[in-house]
Amino acid sequence: MGILDNKVACVTGGARGIGKAISLALASEGAHIVLVDVRLGTEADEVVNIIRSKGLRATALQADVRDFNAAQGVIDTIVKEHQRLDILVNNAGITRDNLLVRMSEEEWDAVIDTNLKGTFNFCKAASRQMVGQRRGTIINIASVVGLIGNAGQVNYAASKAGVIGLTKTLAKELASRNIQVNAVAPGYVETEMTKKLSAQQREALMNLIPMKRTAQPEEVASVVVFLVSPAASYITGQVLCVDGGIAM
Ligand code: NAD
Repeated sequence: MGILDNKVACVTGGARGIGKAISLALASEGAHIVLVDVRLGTEADEVVNIIRSKGLRATALQADVRDFNAAQGVIDTIVKEHQRLDILVNNAGITRDNLLVRMSEEEWDAVIDTNLKGTFNFCKAASRQMVGQRRGTIINIASVVGLIGNAGQVNYAASKAGVIGLTKTLAKELASRNIQVNAVAPGYVETEMTKKLSAQQREALMNLIPMKRTAQPEEVASVVVFLVSPAASYITGQVLCVDGGIAM
């Protein structure tokens, strides 16, 4: 028995990294997982198989979060299958790093479309269902970079600052409907995304972390579990940093 028994959770970007850890952590508390990713393949299959091997329910759906119709299609499929949606985790995200003077319009658009518009798309599609249910919780994965900035990431920082503004605004719009909306802002987490960093970038980042170590994806996932659990029933519109002290 888990604290999320029979809850239905949709996790975008759930095939690997932080999204994979969130999917596994929510499932281990009893939630049915609908993992959404732009690429379905061995990684998504592995997440689904791990969850199913524990006797729990998981499915993977292919969708590009940048596409509103695709987002609506995912939510419609979930509601048809489960008759409700309790938890939405907007986790899908990308980086296309460059200094502003060298950043292309394509690099700007790709990051804003995926990280910010993707979050809007799924929040809009899901909140309609949640308002009808008079219940639900949404977690948006932001970043400390959206709070403190980071040279070489104007697109990413703007997208994540946008996610934080969206989170606070949506929390105000939906609070009276019994829907909580919160953001989690990770610092430096060991995933494929951060494997792309140069040794120099890694060293600069490590110098910023008071705890002097990086995070594992599971350390972000456990905070998401807390925020969607009954233990966090009076928390909305917050940005919880999981960053080893970077943004304090
Ligand atoms: P990752 O690259 O390992 O995984 C991202 C997942 O999102 C992949 O499975 C990818 O296929 C999917 N995805 C990408 N674009 C998509 C799209 N258009 N539609 C659907 N799915 C898409 O990254 P990660 O490190 O696990 O990051 C997950 C989230 O955490 C992101 O929002 C990221 O910005 C945020 N974050 C990560 C770190 C870190 O240090 N890794 C720090 C702060 C915030």
